[in-house]
Amino acid sequence: MKAATKYIHAGMTPDPSTGAIMIPIYQTSTYVQEAPAVNKGYEYARSQNPTRKALEDAYAVIENAQYALAFGSGVAATDAVIKLLSPGDEVICGNDMYGGSYRLFTKVFEKFGIKFIYVDTTNVNNISNAVSDKTRLFWIETPTNPLMNITDIAAVAAIAKPKNILLAVDNTFASPALQNPLDLGADIVMHSATKYLGGHSDVIQGALMMNDKDLQEKLYFIQKSCGAVPGPMDCFLVLRGIKTLGIRMKAHCENGKTIATWLRNHPKVSKVYWPGFEDHPGYAVAKAQMKDFGGMISFELKNDSVDEAKRVLSSTHLFSLAESLGGVESLINHPASMTHASIPREERIKNGLSDSLIRLSVGIEDAGDLVEDLQKAIG
Ligand SMILES: *Cc1c(COP(=O)(O)O)cnc(C)c1O
Repeated sequence: MKAATKYIHAGMTPDPSTGAIMIPIYQTSTYVQEAPAVNKGYEYARSQNPTRKALEDAYAVIENAQYALAFGSGVAATDAVIKLLSPGDEVICGNDMYGGSYRLFTKVFEKFGIKFIYVDTTNVNNISNAVSDKTRLFWIETPTNPLMNITDIAAVAAIAKPKNILLAVDNTFASPALQNPLDLGADIVMHSATKYLGGHSDVIQGALMMNDKDLQEKLYFIQKSCGAVPGPMDCFLVLRGIKTLGIRMKAHCENGKTIATWLRNHPKVSKVYWPGFEDHPGYAVAKAQMKDFGGMISFELKNDSVDEAKRVLSSTHLFSLAESLGGVESLINHPASMTHASIPREERIKNGLSDSLIRLSVGIEDAGDLVEDLQKAIG
């Protein structure tokens, strides 16, 4: 079955009690039992909910996975993965990643004795060199947020497999329409479903997809024991979002290409970060492991003062100044003061994230209107 069809039918079976084509929002906390421990497979809604189940089935389908679990947010999904580990274990992660993941690792989990080692994963030798006999997990983001760095997922899987190290990939920026890490050898895919999966900026949610039954059981145990589950209404919204994932991503990619190319030719722009440029250092890998290059773009102005960046950030009208990404509407963001403010400035600068970097989440509006909006703002 082709992806466009899968996105529409994933997880959808008519509701057994009425035949409703859309799974109902099962807004319930518990389920009546016929006799003690005699039930229909549903006992308590932290453990099971039919709307969530339909979404988890859909999550598995869209990432070519055997299993999937839904969480109350992307960081809750990440949190569940790290809870597979024990004190003394080591994680190797990318040095350019979502600020909230960095905050979770350094501020929450380090104090429980888990060690996080940050390397430039665009060169996979840096990962091999950091491996020790305590390494249990590689945490990779590609393309990265916000610098659009590309890591070769299959090459990282080749390092992980023989050493029995788990490979988890944050696939939020690509979405399952552009990249399927499990097919490339990853063990776990993580999504902030808040972004492209939901697609309409109206829900916070996270997802994990995996093929290994043992891993599924461990992560389900964490999901139910720690309780970071999404509510049924949010599950319904993401299910609805997934139906249009294919067509939305096509539009995001087309608009992304138009805007990245236009920005690059703009006399006031010094640098554009977008993996679809042939001279992007990760282009060959991106072309091989992604179906298209997406609608996330970062850029810097020739006048690289923070004031000038802030002026542009405050001057757009169609691009709304906001954190987040992946919705149908275009957003503009200042990573240094917004999404990535939780990373210390010296770390940011060391990793190439300047104070004047501007990030765009290109929506699916008319590309000409978006260009005009940016033209007026940049001047
Ligand atoms: C937003 C985001 C997250 C966190 O997801 P939430 O749903 O906000 O908790 C993780 N990774 C990436 C790449 C993100 O963009």
